[in-house]
Amino acid sequence: MPQDMRIRYKITAAVGIALTTVLVTMAIFFTWQQERAVLEQNERTMLKLTESVTQGLQAVMLAGTADIAESYAERLKSVPEVLDFRILRKSGEEAFKDNHTVEAVNRRRGSEDFMLRDHEERVQVLAADDPALLRTIADAKPVPVYEYDASGHRVLTYLAPIRAIESCSRCHGTGDPVRGVIKLTTSLLPVERDILEVRQYAIGGLALALMATMLLTGYMLGRTVVEPLERVTDAMARVSDGDLHHQVPIHTRDELGRMATSFNRMTSELRTTYDGLRREQDKLTTIIHGAGEGIVVTDGNGRIVLVNPAAELLLGKSAERIIEEGFDHLLDDPEAMQRWLTQPDTDGPATAHYNGRTLHVYASTILGNDYNVVGSAALLRDITEEKRLEDELRRLSTTDGLTGLYNRRHLDETLSTEYHRAARTGSSLAVLMFDVDHFKKFNDTYGHDQGDRVLQAVAHNFRLALRKYDLACRYGGEEFVGILPNTTLEGAFSVAERLRHDIEDLEIDGLKVTISLGVAAFPEIIVATAEGLIEAADKALYRSKSLGRNCSTRAGTDPEDQPEGAFS
Ligand code: GH3
Ligand code: MG
Ligand code: MG
Repeated sequence: MPQDMRIRYKITAAVGIALTTVLVTMAIFFTWQQERAVLEQNERTMLKLTESVTQGLQAVMLAGTADIAESYAERLKSVPEVLDFRILRKSGEEAFKDNHTVEAVNRRRGSEDFMLRDHEERVQVLAADDPALLRTIADAKPVPVYEYDASGHRVLTYLAPIRAIESCSRCHGTGDPVRGVIKLTTSLLPVERDILEVRQYAIGGLALALMATMLLTGYMLGRTVVEPLERVTDAMARVSDGDLHHQVPIHTRDELGRMATSFNRMTSELRTTYDGLRREQDKLTTIIHGAGEGIVVTDGNGRIVLVNPAAELLLGKSAERIIEEGFDHLLDDPEAMQRWLTQPDTDGPATAHYNGRTLHVYASTILGNDYNVVGSAALLRDITEEKRLEDELRRLSTTDGLTGLYNRRHLDETLSTEYHRAARTGSSLAVLMFDVDHFKKFNDTYGHDQGDRVLQAVAHNFRLALRKYDLACRYGGEEFVGILPNTTLEGAFSVAERLRHDIEDLEIDGLKVTISLGVAAFPEIIVATAEGLIEAADKALYRSKSLGRNCSTRAGTDPEDQPEGAFS
């Protein structure tokens, strides 16, 4: 049966097949019965006919006019529908054709009562061992034989025994219960016509009965099964389309009625659950839409299904554009997004820069109950301000407020790192130290504020005098230190001299100051610690002061000035 066939037609077809089988069986049985009755009726007629023929024959024979029997037989042949009529001897030969019996009778009677015929012939109608003939003689009962003639029509050959009666014994002797056999062959055409008629009636009746039953079955099925089922099916379709308020009308209390009741109850349960879920969803949506964090969620196929206003703001793109570009292109870095999704960072969120902002990205794959992927989600937190404050704090903690140069704490850390690098790689590392000359007096003369401005100008020039990767810091008061990686003692000395000249030439509010400098460098001076370099530079600075100020001194040039633990 085709899959899309409607149930009404399926049941009707099944009932139709079952009914057809029953009715056809009944019709076959009925026609078979009818045919048998017609044939039996025919046989009975034949029996009566042969009996009356036998009696007629006996009457003729008893009257002693056996030759009349022959013409009697010939007459019978001309009866319509009688195809053949013969009187046979038990040997299957046709009787009254030769003098065999006449001679035997005359011999028995010892007279010449019966005249011999002039013309003799021998007609073997049936073989002597013909089974039907033998059965007729043995049982002394008529035997019908149905067969087909040369033109293919059914014919009935009826073999009837000619029983011997007492009067026969005078001529034919005693002992044989059967004298001969009458063979009567009739056409079955009229009988077959009757049978055909019966079959036609049967087929007509069958078709009518089938049609009526099918119509009735179809109608009853429609009313009792199909229509209630269709009502439930329609209701299911409407519910699956989202109409949870639809109810199936209940007309009966049978199985279909109970099914409709259960369906209505199920729909109402669904509605309650759905309403509850809807309320929860509304709450969640409100929270998501009001959240300061950007939230983007996809379904199981990777299609974006939720973008909150914060996400639009942070990414600087409309929700439509975000949806169109897809989840992987949220931050224009599909590879990073895939990495964040597949390898969640246990150290915390990933940091990304996008749309001029610094964002923390929490990307995760959402798994269902059976661990299948039901979607992905990205939560974007704007940490631009946080990062700026953090950077500012870091800057404040490592720089000097007055000059903006690095402070001593940062110097100590950097110097230690650079010293170890130089010691490890064998590269040079120079330290430059300077102090503003007679600054106490300057302060006393021009005031502390003026002193501050001078310190700021000196610091600015100090910064300019160094390379990008050198480190300038305020060591304390009016003392400054520079760390110059990959710089030899001579290189550092050149820098010191250039700076000294710069400051000497500098004019601040019409005022001038000078500085005294000391430089030390590794490996020209071998020191055990980073502080050793500072000490050496400090000693060199001290020497510059003692030499009259506004000059630069290389550490290690004066044997007396060698710092403790250092040698050149
Ligand atoms: P010298 O040539 O030997 O270095 O003489 P000096 O006067 O500079 O030496 P001293 O160490 O005695 O004086 C340092 C002075 O620097 C003391 C203090 O008034 C001044 N000073 C230190 N820090 C600051 C500051 O932040 N601002 C101002 N305006 N002055 C400072
Ligand atoms: Mg000083
Ligand atoms: Mg000083």
